[in-house]
Amino acid sequence: MNKREQPAAVPVIEAARGDVPFYKEHGFHHPKAVHGLFRRVKWAVMAVLLAVWHLTPFLRWDRGPGAPDQAILIDLPARRAYFFFIEIWPQEVYYLTGLLLLAGLMLFLMSALAGRVWCGFLCWQTVYTDLFLSVERFFMGDRARHLQRDRQPLTLDKVGRVVAVNAVWLVIAAASGISFTLYFGDAFQMLRDIATGQAATATYVAILVVAGFCFLLGGYARERVCVYMCPYARFQSAMFDEHSLIVSYEAWRGEPRAPVSKTHDFQGRGHCVDCGACVQSCPTGTDIRFGNQLSCIGCGLCIDACNAVMDRFGLPRGLISYDSSSNLLAREQGRTPRSRLIRPRTLIYVALVAAIGGTMALKLAFRSDTEVNVLHERAPLYVQLARGGIRNGYSYKILNMAAQDRSYHLSVEGIPDARLEVIGGDTGVASTELQAGRDSVATYRIYVSAPPGASHGARTDLTFVLNGPNGKVVRTTTLFAGPAQ
Ligand code: SF4
Ligand code: SF4
Repeated sequence: MNKREQPAAVPVIEAARGDVPFYKEHGFHHPKAVHGLFRRVKWAVMAVLLAVWHLTPFLRWDRGPGAPDQAILIDLPARRAYFFFIEIWPQEVYYLTGLLLLAGLMLFLMSALAGRVWCGFLCWQTVYTDLFLSVERFFMGDRARHLQRDRQPLTLDKVGRVVAVNAVWLVIAAASGISFTLYFGDAFQMLRDIATGQAATATYVAILVVAGFCFLLGGYARERVCVYMCPYARFQSAMFDEHSLIVSYEAWRGEPRAPVSKTHDFQGRGHCVDCGACVQSCPTGTDIRFGNQLSCIGCGLCIDACNAVMDRFGLPRGLISYDSSSNLLAREQGRTPRSRLIRPRTLIYVALVAAIGGTMALKLAFRSDTEVNVLHERAPLYVQLARGGIRNGYSYKILNMAAQDRSYHLSVEGIPDARLEVIGGDTGVASTELQAGRDSVATYRIYVSAPPGASHGARTDLTFVLNGPNGKVVRTTTLFAGPAQ
């Protein structure tokens, strides 16, 4: 390897060897382009993820007249989230908790099975860094040419190329920011509003923030995000065991490394020709020959680079491979490697994913489309009526999540001969027949009067019974207050 082409040192690797501080300033790393299986998989995953991110807001889903027809929509003013046939109300935020739990467990499962496959292929930071690097390569050339350009004095050509790189990065970042906002309103209308300057100020601020982070993190921070900022990198190794697939260098086969001889004789030496191709192609500048490191995101590009070198010298592929440490050891000891996907750790993760996913699916399948919130009025807690009875006031909300207007009948249980007085609602009519418009909340004020001696001191349980269409009943028990006995 040419002396000038030594890979930019990423200090964490040296820190792992204990001879430099954990962080030190380092220049830009320009990874070398590689070709091979992992590179193709990364291109394919990137294309799918970017297509999903940018095109999903334009998917439509018919929810009937008057309802939004965007398949995935977070409607902040209406406080609703739509996901195809599912409509989530603010009261159902536990679905979000369930989704976050599922996402965390899936990440654990992925790590136990295939190491940092999330980091190397699926993470937002990886996808955008990869995309930005390919733009940079297009204008500045591959690694060697780019390093050469870095050393050259500033010329008009060089300035033009740097401006072009940043301009394309900005366009990509802006597209990402715009796509983000399209999830919060009708995508077609929002696009028109953004283009004509008629969108809300908050929309432009959101675009600026998302685009700014995309530009800075993907274009300039790059591998520093994975190495220094990402918390997942800190604890991911705790989720691995000897059967997890990780990117590893087979030292027993590669060492002692040495530059290739003129005769291409590999007798009495290792297969590593110390060409540095693995380090040069690594997006984080990691030298995987030092073993598994925090800075290795498991992208597999060093495998492609090394396989190309092995092919050139007619050596078996897989000096660097995506395999488990138990298989690496088996190969070293001449035993047959055996992958173990099913083991206690993965079974526990699968069981937890199934339990949480199943609970959420059941909850959704048997979800009631009518919910009730009752709030007992506190000032005053109760009123003593002139004829000796006691009256309590309540705020009564009916959440009608159905796509039709609905009528309900309200009654109470728990206090004999209690009298109900309902005020408010959409119609303003005082009646125990309550109405709630489609996909909305109807709020009523309700007075419940108990005849003398019907309630039990300071606290009596009172149950509101709401009879809806198709015989659906919602019962809500609350407090009926009175003077202590
Ligand atoms: S690419 Fe392979 S042969 Fe070249 S330095 Fe890396 S491990 Fe050794
Ligand atoms: S060492 Fe290999 S797998 Fe790890 S980040 Fe670098 S190129 Fe990717």
